[in-house]
Amino acid sequence: MKKIIVIPGDGIGQEITACAVKVLEKIDQKFNIGLEFETRDAGGTSYEKFGTPLTDEALSACKNADGVLFGAVGGKKWDSLPVHLRPEKAIFGLRKGLGLFANLRPTKVYPELINSSPLKPELVKGADLLIVRELVGGIYFGPRCESETKDGVEQAWDTEIYSVPEIERITKLAFETAKKSRGKLTSVDKANVLAASRLWRKVVNDMAKNYPEVELNHLYVDNAAMQLVLNPAQFDIIVTNNIFGDILSDEAAVIGGSIGLMPSASIGELTSLYEPIHGSAPDISGKDKANPMGTILSAAMLLRYSLNRADAAQAIESAIEKTLDDGWRTPDIFSDGFKKVGTNRVTEIICDFI
Ligand code: NAD
Repeated sequence: MKKIIVIPGDGIGQEITACAVKVLEKIDQKFNIGLEFETRDAGGTSYEKFGTPLTDEALSACKNADGVLFGAVGGKKWDSLPVHLRPEKAIFGLRKGLGLFANLRPTKVYPELINSSPLKPELVKGADLLIVRELVGGIYFGPRCESETKDGVEQAWDTEIYSVPEIERITKLAFETAKKSRGKLTSVDKANVLAASRLWRKVVNDMAKNYPEVELNHLYVDNAAMQLVLNPAQFDIIVTNNIFGDILSDEAAVIGGSIGLMPSASIGELTSLYEPIHGSAPDISGKDKANPMGTILSAAMLLRYSLNRADAAQAIESAIEKTLDDGWRTPDIFSDGFKKVGTNRVTEIICDFI
């Protein structure tokens, strides 16, 4: 059996994870994987029940699972809690507890939704890329000073530190991913200015010797940001550090048209965690309006990366494409001439296409 811990969280997290589980159950009937689901709380929902956004028991269940499917956390109700009790603390607890060192964010422009992209159709046509972001190092975790006075002037500073093993770990994952994809890897840094980026580039070049089948190129982050909107279809896999990945993955996410469509994977030393990139969307929660596709595609990533079942993942991805191709649209991607459906109905349609 393959155990999946489902953490719905708050707001639409409850609805969209239920949809993803329905799709996984359908997949299990077809592919006989032997999936087993257990639910745990996190975020505001966990705070209401247990007085903490993430219990030790929930974390330990995740550590012992084959994969974690996460919805979203957060909501106005908990915004005024002290920082250590706020819903988002659950995410940091899971990142730290599971050793989630890499974040994988695919961006795909579906031909059926090309007009939903904020960019011109001719620019985004064929875009299908994945950003591999280092998640536990770099400037977000380096030494910092909030305020000090030097020569009578107040200043603050942060530090970007990367070690060779940290860069090797993320780079290896990126090369392996590129090998299974279209064989192209772009490493993004700022090696013309930053020492940590120069080490990054050296380690990536050294690692490339083990992957002669992967075509590698390097881009400075300013150019990468520009290329993402000028010609996103040139990219296959992009690997980058924590801060550049944070910014570029949000830039890439909008190219696809709706955040409701975007999945992600956080690869861990113990267990990996899969979640849509959006939040708990309190404005549409409980109204059958949320697009569950980002979460369903996250479940497909779980099958591909944690269970090594690319065949089952592909079945989900093509069912989503068929659903879109057949004209079904949740409100976030609806336009005249298409068939408007809610969260639950679109899930049934996706299941029917599996
Ligand atoms: P959000 O992503 O929840 O919503 C932004 C906008 O996108 C809203 O208009 C929402 O209706 C829409 N949207 C989001 N997901 C959608 C979907 N699946 N289908 C259709 N429309 C969708 O961001 P926000 O409003 O800034 O934050 C709401 C709460 O979520 C906050 O408490 C925030 O802290 C939290 N949050 C959590 C996560 C997470 O759990 N990983 C991430 C981001 C924000």
